Amino acid sequence: MPNTQVIHRHLHHLPPTAVAGQGMWITDSEGRRYLDASGGAAVSCLGHGHPDVIAAMHAQIDKLAYAHTGFFTTDVAEELAARLVATAPAGTSHVYFVSGGSEAVEAALKMARQYFLEKGEPQRTHFIARRQSYHGNTLGALAVGGNAWRREPFAPILIDATHVSPCYPYREQREGETPQQYGQRLANELEAAIERVGRDKVIAFVAETVGGATAGVITPVPGYFKAVREVCDRHGVLLILDEVMCGMGRTGTLHACEQEGIAPDLLVVAKGLGGGYQPIGAVLAQQRIVDAMTRGSGFFQHGHTYLGHPVACAAALAVQKVIERDGLLARVRELGAKFEAMLHEAFDSRVHVGDIRGRGLFWAVELVEDRASKRPFDPARKLHAKVKSRAMAEGLMVYPMGGTVDGRYGDHVLLAPPFVAGETELRLAVERLQGAIDAAVAQT
Ligand code: PLP
Repeated sequence: MPNTQVIHRHLHHLPPTAVAGQGMWITDSEGRRYLDASGGAAVSCLGHGHPDVIAAMHAQIDKLAYAHTGFFTTDVAEELAARLVATAPAGTSHVYFVSGGSEAVEAALKMARQYFLEKGEPQRTHFIARRQSYHGNTLGALAVGGNAWRREPFAPILIDATHVSPCYPYREQREGETPQQYGQRLANELEAAIERVGRDKVIAFVAETVGGATAGVITPVPGYFKAVREVCDRHGVLLILDEVMCGMGRTGTLHACEQEGIAPDLLVVAKGLGGGYQPIGAVLAQQRIVDAMTRGSGFFQHGHTYLGHPVACAAALAVQKVIERDGLLARVRELGAKFEAMLHEAFDSRVHVGDIRGRGLFWAVELVEDRASKRPFDPARKLHAKVKSRAMAEGLMVYPMGGTVDGRYGDHVLLAPPFVAGETELRLAVERLQGAIDAAVAQT
């Protein structure tokens, strides 16, 4: 048993103690340095120790560290909301601030349910989401999530949700099927699910615009989300897009859905919103949702102690101002193209890399035992865990995930470097990852 009183994720294993962070590097108590190529879990979009964000947090703490939203609003929450609305998909009018991704998903699920209650449609009780997805670890978010391994122990206590296929071209687009046909087939599957559940019973379809942690940066085929939006509209079903991981600039536009040419009814963001400087997440809501609640009960029946926390809002506001001032969305696109080329150069010839996919500075490599048949490694071999520990031993942070319990999908390694990364650091990250994958495969 390790010498700790903290309940860590792995109870038999004490991780290194992080003591400092600067730019793309974290240093531990032994003086070892780790190149943070995943921003933790796709969080640290400005890297560590950004002086502007730290100064904004100090200034806010000096002024006002906390005020409960049951009593007050704050200038900083109002300014952040105004900025988010001004840059959000058309029709967005309001923002609800929480402390992270799972809380934001929970709030979106409840807001969607309350919308229909206010409209006099209480029979709408059901959510449809996708397999191979992740929406968070609280019970509502876990229920809509489609990660079989995470759900399994808690399945008996989760609300009922229906899961349809993800948009996962590498694994599930059929031979001879065009991307458009594939996207339409998936939209038809969603429509069939809505009809099976009952067209007046479904509250919302929930999806990550670009699938993150569970399947490893699965990018939608062109037209998929347009077709999904049409299906939802036809049946009066809300569309909730979870951009906790892929949003706030990570894919090269502020919101990933901009590249799909659609607006969701509720857009959920978190990680890159505050860049890890403070815990913060948000739900961006369309006017008609807020109007229904305003005209109806006049109350959103939800809440937490730390809603709209002033220091978290100050950190997020500073992060978003830096992104705008320094032109970082354009930088994500430019640097992302270079990073993509580096990944192809390093891994195209590696027999155990089946797929390299991503957008902007959000990338994954999927590892397979056999490239031709796409056969994954046996999940029991836990290749992803070995890649992680080999990478840490080489001074590299990446975010590997395992295949699903049914063993149909492979292990993958997710990369989400900061928008301020240097090309030399990215090259070093790819080089170290190559070494870690080779060593882990040799070890399995
Ligand atoms: N939604 C998505 C798409 C995520 O990737 C995550 C976390 O990885 C969450 C929700 C949950 O966010 P949090 O861990 O901040 O609760």
